[in-house]
Amino acid sequence: MNINHHLDEATLLSYSAGSLSQGMALVVACHLAFCPECQERSRKADSVGGALLESLDSEAVSASMLDTILMQLDDIEPEKPVEPVHADPEVPAPLRAYIPGSFDDLEWKRIVPGVSYYDMPWQGRGVSRLLRISPGKSMLPHTHDGNELTLVLRGSFSDEMGRFGPGDIADLDDQVEHQPLVDSQEDCICLIATDAPLRFTTLFGKLVQPITGF
Ligand SMILES: [Zn+2]
Repeated sequence: MNINHHLDEATLLSYSAGSLSQGMALVVACHLAFCPECQERSRKADSVGGALLESLDSEAVSASMLDTILMQLDDIEPEKPVEPVHADPEVPAPLRAYIPGSFDDLEWKRIVPGVSYYDMPWQGRGVSRLLRISPGKSMLPHTHDGNELTLVLRGSFSDEMGRFGPGDIADLDDQVEHQPLVDSQEDCICLIATDAPLRFTTLFGKLVQPITGF
């Protein structure tokens, strides 16, 4: 797999800190399953985050903030997916607990001709779904109310940021407006998640970013 678009450091740090929504954490885990480069960066983010938490002066951290951190750590305790016997290699391992077969076996719901979706089976912050878009179709231009992660699983699309194929991730914040156009011969299937960023996430990212030098 030839991956050209990766997770940004703020997302990796939020993932390490356990402050991403379930949907966004799933997209990150799926990209990591494909990408040795981001696995390595994620290990660094883990150790930086751990060192930072250990070195925090306890009196400087309010009890409520610590509670929030601990709650969020509990929150995303990763579920061990049950590995089906005949796994479809197109479905990344972290997704197989929810998609036991092939993408083609799912009951896709049509939004407009050429665009359909399949929602992940949970209610949480933000959106978490698979999108399936026909060749030559594009999503309407949109900006984001928060962050958006898009991981390509089949086919490809292009937008102002470049071309995205299987394994590539578009890691966008709310400043970006874009209009992805599917440019593959086959349908493009993506796993997407959105989230309104928590203040804690932003603070943690700002705090740690200068140390990591990613
Ligand atoms: Zn990567």
